Amino acid sequence: MELSSRASAFIAQEEKYGAHNYHPLGVVLSKGKGAFVWDVDGKRYFDFLSAYSAVNQGHCHPKIVEALTEQASKICLTSRAFYNDCLGPYEEFMHNYFGYDKVLPMNSGAEAVETALKLARRWGYIKKNIPENQALIVGCDGNFHGRTISIVSLSSDPDSYSQYGPFTPGLVKIPYNDVNALAQVFEKQGKNIAAFLVEPIQGEAGVFVPDDGYLKACFDLCKKYNVLFVADEVQTGIARTGKMLCCDHEGIRPDMVILGKAISGGVLPVSAVLADDEIMLTIKPGEHGSTFGGFPLACKVAIAALEVVKDEKLVEKSEYLGKIFRDEMSKVKSPFIAQIRGKGLLNAIVIKPHDGKEAWDVCEKMAELGLIAKPTHKHIIRFAPPLVITEPELREAIGIIKLAIKALE
Ligand SMILES: *Cc1c(COP(=O)(O)O)cnc(C)c1O
Repeated sequence: MELSSRASAFIAQEEKYGAHNYHPLGVVLSKGKGAFVWDVDGKRYFDFLSAYSAVNQGHCHPKIVEALTEQASKICLTSRAFYNDCLGPYEEFMHNYFGYDKVLPMNSGAEAVETALKLARRWGYIKKNIPENQALIVGCDGNFHGRTISIVSLSSDPDSYSQYGPFTPGLVKIPYNDVNALAQVFEKQGKNIAAFLVEPIQGEAGVFVPDDGYLKACFDLCKKYNVLFVADEVQTGIARTGKMLCCDHEGIRPDMVILGKAISGGVLPVSAVLADDEIMLTIKPGEHGSTFGGFPLACKVAIAALEVVKDEKLVEKSEYLGKIFRDEMSKVKSPFIAQIRGKGLLNAIVIKPHDGKEAWDVCEKMAELGLIAKPTHKHIIRFAPPLVITEPELREAIGIIKLAIKALE
């Protein structure tokens, strides 16, 4: 892609002074509004990544920004050493919104996953009587739960875990979308298993959608063996897949739900674990925490962001627009397209490399034409626009994607 000297300068600066732990597409963004972002040269793009589904409510949503700025001039951070007048209202709001007894607020998704792992182990020792230091947590191949050492200890992606060992013990991996594998590990080690940690759709793995009934069957097995069913909804939650939580598609209520990303509409790092008292009250004062977790600014922003989801019917929109996306894309006959999959507005196209061109080239072409998305795992492109995108905007964006694919043939 052609880069202006301004854009190149920003890229060179990051290259020179920042750690090289990302490989971004060559666009330098400076502004966002709704489903659109603009680069430093004023060019407009459809945003089809939404910051990995953190910006479900659209960029700079006025209601969320207003909540932010209003609270910012009152008080931002109190720490949990004292009470404040935002956390309680937020906690009650979360209880009413998601129907769990309690919320434990954190900041990043990874921290919330870590928190859920701690809660699961605690529950295992206190409620299930697992012998001390014997608790096991089962996760799935292909998972993405974040970047801490314990979480990458459960990863099956060498990029995520290589040379970060030694790893955290007590984590067991089984194949994803394989109920029998779960039954077998429960059969063998069920007495010491505290939790099954699962993404209802594996987002980072490339929007890998498990078979219908998989989650429900796993949930039933968890009940049978007295194992906590823990859903990592950091990416799939908050209306992204056409339901408030992706687990709602199968009518199951996880024992713990992990939320992040879109809880704040992408305005602040806000994450949370939801659970009922039997689990949540196994952690006592002083036994877990975070300086910023549940800070006043985050509370106000999260309430506003979650209200936007309901006010603007983003669940229904995601469901309806997602169908249009998959319908339209499946009409495209192209040697590049191997598969289209997804739920709601969390979708992916699996790219068959063709004439030496692959997913990265498709993304560069789309960017040139005014739509940004990013390959995940080399041959898969995730398409996840902000859920506030309108139907005409979506149809225009689909036109750009089709054009980019045709242009490369
Ligand atoms: C992004 C993501 C995380 C980690 O969130 P961070 O805020 O980046 O730490 C955890 N789980 C899933 C499913 C995610 O998509």
